Amino acid sequence: MIDIIYRYDPTTQPALIPPATPDEARVRLCEGNREFMRLVDLPTGGERSTHIIPIDLAELGVAEQGGIPRQQPFAIVLGCSDARAPIEWIFNQGCNSLFVVRVAGNVLGNECLGSIEYAVQHLGGNLKLLVVLGHSGCGAVTAAVDTYLKPARYLAVANSQALRSIVDGLMLAVRAAAAALEHVHGPSVAQAPGYRDAMIEMAVALNTAMTAKTLKYEFRDVDPDELRVVFGVYHLVSREVDLLSAQGYDGNPNLYEPPAHEAAFRELGVRIASCPVIAAMLRAK
Ligand SMILES: [Zn+2]
Repeated sequence: MIDIIYRYDPTTQPALIPPATPDEARVRLCEGNREFMRLVDLPTGGERSTHIIPIDLAELGVAEQGGIPRQQPFAIVLGCSDARAPIEWIFNQGCNSLFVVRVAGNVLGNECLGSIEYAVQHLGGNLKLLVVLGHSGCGAVTAAVDTYLKPARYLAVANSQALRSIVDGLMLAVRAAAAALEHVHGPSVAQAPGYRDAMIEMAVALNTAMTAKTLKYEFRDVDPDELRVVFGVYHLVSREVDLLSAQGYDGNPNLYEPPAHEAAFRELGVRIASCPVIAAMLRAK
């Protein structure tokens, strides 16, 4: 059994002091994700565990005397709309800590970019980090991969301009995933039994990295010591935010700086394609 308790304790307010630098903000989110991973770890042997989440009533507007709480997020997060990837939960953050933009496939359309621009321009103050968060098993990325593998399926989304724009926005990452897999595993990789699953895993990571790279360029005039762009992938099984590495998902959440240029983006693709997890996926039926 697990007890999850939200606790307001006026004597422990310093715990909610916002991070002072992008590095501190990144650590805060990674530690929050580590807490979230532990939060729903069922204790073995049937014993009971208790997790306490501190909250600040003032941030909910409860303790304010007739006033509206000021919006004071320390990070912007662009994530997917997927119901299994709730941003505040994943990073173990309460109200007024994150400015969240969610759209299928965390595709960066005009409205999303406009929302992020608004936050950067008007919610400054505590803002230290701009995070792009993809997630494993993404349905939007899966639709784009399926369209790439069987172009006739494009007809299913072609009738809707709105759906089409999401799939089209993901296609560059899908093509980059295919190129990286072929580079590492040879031209016959497309015949591997687990090619589709490996493509989805790869395309999720590369789409997230590419979106972060784009955002870094969009906000190139902002001092990176004030606001930094990072990215990561939320893994639905381990609940960890990280990027696939040779060790797989190692239990140490992390967020990464986007590739600085085209060659670094290709290197990232090759590095992920070389991971044993991808090799195992390719072999799986
Ligand atoms: Zn998704």
